[in-house]
Amino acid sequence: MRTRLVMGNWKMNGDLQANQALLSTIVRTVQAEPSIYQKGQIVVCPPFPYLAQAAQSLVDSSVELGAQDVSVATSGAYTGEVSASMLKDFACQWVIVGHSERRAYHGESSEVVAEKAKVAMTNGLTPVVCVGESLSEREAGRTLAIIDEQLKPVLALGSAVLAKLVIAYEPVWAIGTGLTATPEQAQEVHAFIRGQLTAAGVGHVQILYGGSVKANNAKSLFAMPDIDGALVGGAALNAEEFLAIAAA
Ligand code: 13P
Repeated sequence: MRTRLVMGNWKMNGDLQANQALLSTIVRTVQAEPSIYQKGQIVVCPPFPYLAQAAQSLVDSSVELGAQDVSVATSGAYTGEVSASMLKDFACQWVIVGHSERRAYHGESSEVVAEKAKVAMTNGLTPVVCVGESLSEREAGRTLAIIDEQLKPVLALGSAVLAKLVIAYEPVWAIGTGLTATPEQAQEVHAFIRGQLTAAGVGHVQILYGGSVKANNAKSLFAMPDIDGALVGGAALNAEEFLAIAAA
């Protein structure tokens, strides 16, 4: 049985005051209703400068902390980079790697993404590896070929690394657009990913869906056999909405 996982990717949003309100509502609600919120795992991923704030808010909470990226390097002259061990220092247990925004705006190749996943894993963080096709790729009927290409270097990491990661399918055309993939569209890709993982000996790996997940569409997405949870963007900035997705 795969555990359910709902992660909030805050992206480059928030400030000390707003974060405090968001975190305290989440922590309070999760604690008050364990039968609803503690059946699966909830994770929040704030921007780097707020990890310390979030770590403090999450002490004694079942809600865990993740980062949005990690360096492939471990230390040294890499201006602007943040290492996996630094994330561990701030109580992170999770890290998103290869988000489509990093692939698009920071030129991250699938090889770099795989390397980041490996570095994260080696340092005791659970990498959440994002894959997803653009609208033109979907319209050209290339969705599964693109996912296959993006997964290849990750699958090459071998079952010891693969056994401990999470895959997030995030169709680029569904991110921040309000255009959610239908549960059937998402399931088709999730089933394909599940097939690849099973062939690599790690069929139990969790596969999240991301892209305009909201309280009103979470349930139908989560009803699909290969959707194990969500990577939530915009809706993760609203405590009620995020908690409703987690409850679903
Ligand atoms: P939205 O939920 O805002 O579409 O963002 C999804 C996402 O990119 C999560 O990583």
